[in-house]
Amino acid sequence: MNDSIQAIRRYLEANNLGCLDIKAALIDMDGVLFDSMPLHTLAWKHLSDDLGIEASRDEFYLYEGMTGVATVNLLFRRRFGSEPDVEEARRLYKVKAGYFQSMGRPAAMPGAYDMLSCLKREGIERVLVTGSGQPDILRRIDDEYQGLFEKHLRITAADVKHGKPHPEPYLMAQQRVDALPSQTIVIENAPLGVEAGHASGAFTIAITTGPVPKQSFIDSGADLIFDSMPQFAEQLPHLIQLFRDTSL
Ligand code: MG
Repeated sequence: MNDSIQAIRRYLEANNLGCLDIKAALIDMDGVLFDSMPLHTLAWKHLSDDLGIEASRDEFYLYEGMTGVATVNLLFRRRFGSEPDVEEARRLYKVKAGYFQSMGRPAAMPGAYDMLSCLKREGIERVLVTGSGQPDILRRIDDEYQGLFEKHLRITAADVKHGKPHPEPYLMAQQRVDALPSQTIVIENAPLGVEAGHASGAFTIAITTGPVPKQSFIDSGADLIFDSMPQFAEQLPHLIQLFRDTSL
C-alpha cells in the first residue's frame, strides 16, 4: 500500500492538488472486462498471414487501443512502405473482425465483476471507454455486468474521431460525467490506453492481463500498476480509502 500512497502523492504534486475527490472510473473493455486479447491477437496474426506480412502474435498486445484501421495501416507501412486506401483498410479490418467472431465468446475477466461492484458500492460512477466497435462483445456488457454501466455512459469506436493513444475517448468520458480529469481514474491493460488516460489528466491505473512488460506501462505514464485483475479487485476497497485519505 506504500506504493499506492506514494503514487497518489506524486499525482497530487504533479497536478498541484491538495487532495482527491474521485467521482468516476473510466474503464477499458478488452483485456479488462473480457479476456478477449488472446483471441484478438490470434485474429490479427491470421490476417497478417493472409497478407504475407510477417508479424508476431505478441506484438498485437502493444497495438491494443488503436483503431482497427490504424493497425492495418501500421502493418502495410511496415511491409509495403505505404498505406492501403481507406476502403481497403476497412475491408481488411472486417476480415480480422470476422476471424475474431468465429473464435467464440471470450470469457469475462476474473475479478472484473468484483471491481465494478466495489466501485458502485463506493458511489463511484462507471464509464465504459473502448476503442471497440464489435457489437457482439458490446452487447455482452449487459449480460455479464448487468446494472453496472448506464447506457449513456459508454464511449465506443462510434463516438470518437481519434482512437487511443489520443486522449479524446477519455476526455469525452470525463465530460459525460461532468467531472474534472483529476476527479477520474482510468483502468487500462494496454500501453496505448494508459498513454491516452495519462494524457487526459486522469489518475491512470495499469493492470497486467497479457504479455506486456511492466516498463511499457511505466513509459506510457501509468500512476500505478497491478499484476492481475483479481489482485486489483481485492485491493480496490483499500485503494479507494487511500484516495479519500491521502493529502499533501
Ligand atoms: Mg484493453
